[in-house]
Amino acid sequence: MLLYGVIVLSPLLLVRFARPMTDHGFVFTVGKNLALVGFTILALQFVVSARFPWVERPFGLNVLFYFHKAMAVIASLLLLSHPMLLALGGNEWSLIFGPQVIWHIWLGRIALLIILVHVWLATFRLVVKMNYETWRFVHNLGAVLILPLGFYHSWKAGGDLQLPWMKTLWAALLLTAVASYFRHRVLRPVLLRRYPYQVTEVRREAEGVWTITLVPPEGVPRFDYLPGQFHFLTFQRAPNLPVEEHPWTISSSPTAPGVLCSTIKESGDFTVSIGKTHPGDTALVDGPYGRFSYVLHPHERELVFIAAGIGITPLMSMLRHIRDTRAERSVILLYANTREEDIAFRDELADMERAGATSLKVVHVLSKPSDAWEGERGRLNDEHIKRCAGPELAPRAFYVCGPSMFTQQTIQTLRKARVPARRIHFERFDL
Ligand SMILES: Cc1cc2nc3c(=O)[nH]c(=O)nc-3n(C[C@H](O)[C@H](O)[C@H](O)COP(=O)(O)OP(=O)(O)OC[C@H]3O[C@@H](n4cnc5c(N)ncnc54)[C@H](O)[C@@H]3O)c2cc1C
Repeated sequence: MLLYGVIVLSPLLLVRFARPMTDHGFVFTVGKNLALVGFTILALQFVVSARFPWVERPFGLNVLFYFHKAMAVIASLLLLSHPMLLALGGNEWSLIFGPQVIWHIWLGRIALLIILVHVWLATFRLVVKMNYETWRFVHNLGAVLILPLGFYHSWKAGGDLQLPWMKTLWAALLLTAVASYFRHRVLRPVLLRRYPYQVTEVRREAEGVWTITLVPPEGVPRFDYLPGQFHFLTFQRAPNLPVEEHPWTISSSPTAPGVLCSTIKESGDFTVSIGKTHPGDTALVDGPYGRFSYVLHPHERELVFIAAGIGITPLMSMLRHIRDTRAERSVILLYANTREEDIAFRDELADMERAGATSLKVVHVLSKPSDAWEGERGRLNDEHIKRCAGPELAPRAFYVCGPSMFTQQTIQTLRKARVPARRIHFERFDL
């Protein structure tokens, strides 16, 4: 983070060092500086989103994606303020509104327009019901246009860019962004295509939920991962089925030799076809990613796992790992579903509980149970949590995974019960 901060502020430091005096007014100078910082953030966005292991590992990909979104908003605000402050400080409103400006000013205006479209789409994608693939295409296209437009505009228009050190920094930023993009969009897919994994089993786990088992190509070891981590899979199946890269938890435990499993729920335009995957199909596997894993918190012993629906997958991977390694943990699993038919891994969980190799208590909570259901009923709430985990929640560690709203509400409940934030771990199923 420190390195990121230093890089973002480096153009300001360089300009201050190389050109301590300026004959521009304060407002104008701030306007100029906002553009320098804004463009630097934009260039670094390519590094943040390129899935470099050394960038991902300390934070987890989900956190990086939220950081990417937050920095996009900050960069957009800085870059949109830039022409306003220049116009205000230099009394030159033609910069914004005038039709007769030099063409590299037009390039800057086009870049700002693309930024506005980007921000609007990122905010309202779900409202205007734009599907994820279309949004991603527009997002990627916009990103590769903004960078050269912004670069050329600043190179030509920016007075500070006449300084040799600034020219060097700008060229380095452009090169870094291009190299990151090339590595992520070109090199990575080529390398993944060389070692496709093979589907060996497709098993129905519950209604509309399938577990796919994959093995690496012969002679290639399966990569190592932590229980609870996820990977991106690109299935290559019958020609009429879609080929898209999606993130899925690795629901198997790393203790299962030589295989990777993902348990996938039919929930949208891609996953609706997941049951049509067959043994013999292949998949490109990119992973592992994420930091949602109990092994990263070895001092926590009393765990409460809270899952809703398909959010069980990372918790299942951890439970299998605890079972196989006989890790000294006591776990209470609260598992919310709508109906009995929706419960995935029901038999395996019951076996784990019975075997007693580790202390595990499983509590199923159903929101629409049949009359015969004798277990917990209703939407999983603080009453269920306190009844099953005991009134004293604060000393325990919580692992929460489910739909965004469920996860958010559960975290609020736990915080109200004075569970420290450092002992609430969660995974969001959206990037
Ligand atoms: C870290 C992580 C772990 C996950 N683990 C599991 C799991 O174990 N089992 C499971 O069933 N689901 C899991 N998901 C959710 C799964 O990725 C989405 O349900 C799936 O991508 C939806 O695809 P769709 O096109 O069928 O649905 P849609 O209805 O088209 O999309 C629903 C939402 O899923 C997200 N999404 C869609 N396509 C993509 C994509 N190509 N890349 C990234 N996000 C996308 C978008 O937020 C979109 O709004 C996980 C998601 C994440 C981020």
